[in-house]
Amino acid sequence: MREQMAATVEGPGLKPIESIGALRGAEAPRSLREAKGGVPQRLKPESGLGGYGTAEAVPLSKTARVGASERQMRGSLDCALRAPLGMTASNDGMTAVDGCDVNDAEDGTPFDKLREECGIMAVYGHPDAARMTFWGLYALQHRGQESAGIASADGHDVNDIKGMGLVSEIFTDEVLARLPGHIAIGHTRYSTTGDSALLNAQPISVESTMGLIAIAHNGNLVNLGNSKERLERDGAVFQTTSDSEIIIQLIAHSRCNTLVDCIAESLAQVDGAFSIVMMTRNRIFAARDPHGFRPLSMGRIAGVNGEPDTFVFASETCAFDLLHAKYERDVRPGELVMVSEDGVTSRRFAPETVPHASCIFEHVYFARPDSRVFGRWVQQSRDEMGRQLARESGVDADLVVPVPDSGVTAALGYAAESGIPFNFGLIRNHYVGRTFIQPEQRTRDFGVRMKLNPVRNLLQGKRIILIDDSIIRGTTSRKIVRMCRAAGAAEVHMRISCPPTISPCFYGVDTPSTRELIAANKSIEEIREFIEADSLAYLSLVGLTYSCTTNEPANGMSPASFCTACYTGVYPTQWVDVEDILPAGALVG
Ligand code: SF4
Repeated sequence: MREQMAATVEGPGLKPIESIGALRGAEAPRSLREAKGGVPQRLKPESGLGGYGTAEAVPLSKTARVGASERQMRGSLDCALRAPLGMTASNDGMTAVDGCDVNDAEDGTPFDKLREECGIMAVYGHPDAARMTFWGLYALQHRGQESAGIASADGHDVNDIKGMGLVSEIFTDEVLARLPGHIAIGHTRYSTTGDSALLNAQPISVESTMGLIAIAHNGNLVNLGNSKERLERDGAVFQTTSDSEIIIQLIAHSRCNTLVDCIAESLAQVDGAFSIVMMTRNRIFAARDPHGFRPLSMGRIAGVNGEPDTFVFASETCAFDLLHAKYERDVRPGELVMVSEDGVTSRRFAPETVPHASCIFEHVYFARPDSRVFGRWVQQSRDEMGRQLARESGVDADLVVPVPDSGVTAALGYAAESGIPFNFGLIRNHYVGRTFIQPEQRTRDFGVRMKLNPVRNLLQGKRIILIDDSIIRGTTSRKIVRMCRAAGAAEVHMRISCPPTISPCFYGVDTPSTRELIAANKSIEEIREFIEADSLAYLSLVGLTYSCTTNEPANGMSPASFCTACYTGVYPTQWVDVEDILPAGALVG
């Protein structure tokens, strides 16, 4: 049963988003044109961000986007909730299926997961800043494995080195020796299909009248207005297709008098998700977008023998631990922090009134459980997700089994709350790289079986509860369920530690379009049937936000502080891609 969204779209010729919501239900229009009320359309954004938007907005890269006012979207967040408490589908009469006759498409990737696109790191005031940045990126490797880069400065010169592959593959001792200086920034990147060239690896550097500026960016900009065309008319030469470069070109072409003013002015012109670190030959800057979509924390390494302290910034605090850095605080949404020889200073580039929309999926899946993200331990949230899941949709069983690795903490919580024993019934091979899988192997679940293997003596004859963090297309979940049955499990009950993923992300997470998201196109019961589980239940949205906020101090995260758009289809910014939010079948006709 799917509820419809209630927010409204404004603009010439567009139907209210109510009608976009209806696309998800039975009355989907026959074509994209019909869905958009006769588009392609370009809309001007509303002036809802306190005058911080560009004068005229033009879609960034896709064919059509709709804007919905932030006020309307926030207002409809609660009523757009699509996963009521205890939403469960079950099938007691299910018979075991013996394994490997998969007839669904295998895309060659072993796991069907959403992927974070970047991790960023910055160090100021350490004699070997590049090496410290390397260690930080090493801890952030889970946020992107396709390319990495480090830029360093010694007060005079800026050097940067980028490469394709893992951080440890690129930055050998010899390479790090070519990055001298006490200042460094770094980036590790997962890029979307067709966009994995070294060209787009970061940090990106641009020469300006104020010297060379390098930037590393986590997130995705959703509205750059006519900035790129205007910058090109002003003589900007873009080196990459990355929208991150727009920020740095805006800075380089700003007419403000000081670099800090140039940066603040430029950041105020763009909308979307950005946690960034920047450097010049003698300063570090760190900033987060006004909504605070992506995390960015600040830490400090105490100086020894009267030496000044070292300041570090990272996407996740797990990067601090290797450096013996102490977490100080998060960079606040809409804040620009500068570190120079004069110390640390901070200013705002956006009003504090912009509603926060921190990505809740960081707590569900992306971030490491040993990190503190948005000021809260991820382990604490995930454990509570598992406990809440057990409270909402408990089922009689013999064993709680996590889908490793990201399902482990929630499974521990589920087991603790339910009293059902926990064990590792599936073992993950951590050394599976980008192995080429032959076409004939793809049709036999080879990718998943390379990565996961069942522990037969644990599963044999048992009624198991599988805990995972998401179902995206459903194909991987089906393979895992079949794998458990083939290993002798008597019953397989699937429990997911977040609500159904029904809508794509536009804020720096690689998601399929709505057409490919199984939960956007099938009911819970249909998904259960598809993945061949005995029962299936998702954590409710209320349960998720509760899990990510329970026991928070009065000034801590609240349910309203989070972006939950991939579970609700209600976006915190004005710009979304119409094509990407159409369900399967909407283009037929
Ligand atoms: Fe995170 Fe989902 Fe929002 Fe993207 S849409 S920022 S993945 S909560």
